[in-house]
Amino acid sequence: MLLELIVNSAVDRSSSPSWKANVLDDLSRGSHLFTGSEASVKKAVVNNLDKAYHPVPQIRSKLVKPVYGDGFYVEVSRGCRWLCPYCLESFTTFPPRYRSFNTIKSLILKGLQYVNERRVIIYSLSFFDHPSSDELLNWLLSEGIKYSLPSLRYTTLNIARMELVAAGGQRTITIAPETVDADVSCAIRKCFLRELVYELSRYALLKDMNVKLYFIFGLPGEGMDIGRRTAEFINEVTATGLRRSGQVRVSVNPFIPKPNTAMQYFPLPSREVFERKVKELLRNIDRRVRVSVYNWKLAFAQALIALGDENAGYLSIEWALMGGKLGQLKSMLSEIGYSPRYVFSRKELGHKFPWSSIDLGVKGVINKLANELLALSGS
Ligand code: SF4
Repeated sequence: MLLELIVNSAVDRSSSPSWKANVLDDLSRGSHLFTGSEASVKKAVVNNLDKAYHPVPQIRSKLVKPVYGDGFYVEVSRGCRWLCPYCLESFTTFPPRYRSFNTIKSLILKGLQYVNERRVIIYSLSFFDHPSSDELLNWLLSEGIKYSLPSLRYTTLNIARMELVAAGGQRTITIAPETVDADVSCAIRKCFLRELVYELSRYALLKDMNVKLYFIFGLPGEGMDIGRRTAEFINEVTATGLRRSGQVRVSVNPFIPKPNTAMQYFPLPSREVFERKVKELLRNIDRRVRVSVYNWKLAFAQALIALGDENAGYLSIEWALMGGKLGQLKSMLSEIGYSPRYVFSRKELGHKFPWSSIDLGVKGVINKLANELLALSGS
């Protein structure tokens, strides 16, 4: 979309000696490009995915397998209607849009001619929100095409859909309740459905699938007992029918504030608090569960860069030149006198961020959700 505008403008202006400045002028006029002087720019949106470009022959390394394995990667939607307030993807890719069933079928039939395996990997933030999701999976089955669905919102699942997921050859089901605290879960737009998680897990474990559970510690309003409560819940999940060690896997991440989301106003939890909660989880959890804990230092580095201004850019360069090791970051910050305080501070609604001039079309939602979360966390 933007490329087309750049090329057209460059061709039209090419005879002028100041063509570069003229092209920038053209682009800044309602074309969604931030040239440095605009008070606000609107994100460009491709409204009709059926008309959007989709690669069909897909370039693959001969040495490294793609992240979700061999097969044709097909994007069936962009955006996600749930807008969970911490989710960078849903805010930056807003609004939700769907490719039509016919376009997806035709892409798959063409794309499979270029790959070794008769398998598709379906790209979507929340696949079962696609209006033709069930129809598409049934069609793939009838064509003898295997499939993988890396991203599912568990609240859109039921046993019939689990059967469809398993029939496509998928061996792991990912369920991301994020928190077991009922109030906090509703504030992050993922009201915790305990019984549904048990039901889905029971089915998956019985079918010898792996169950992967995701949690975030450090959400606003959660208590210090969240580690113990999470462990108790996971133990209930294993009790639905664990058949072998490692069949239930748990991933625990510190909450990392992301720009342009409703939770950009909230701080990264301190290392001490995060690790205390994790310790409680590990002390109480069934030993047969495989737990992986996200490195807090990595989360700190992410938040430092994500929430920073242009100085964070210079900092990243310095850090990279020094070798870019995580262990060096803290000492480097004090050496150059860079304060990381903004990572741990809670900002007021209306706080001016470096990206406040970018209009993603979700400002109203961001304010509403942030207000609810501020109320929950006692602002
Ligand atoms: S359902 Fe998943 S993809 Fe959609 S907004 Fe929530 S976290 Fe993001």
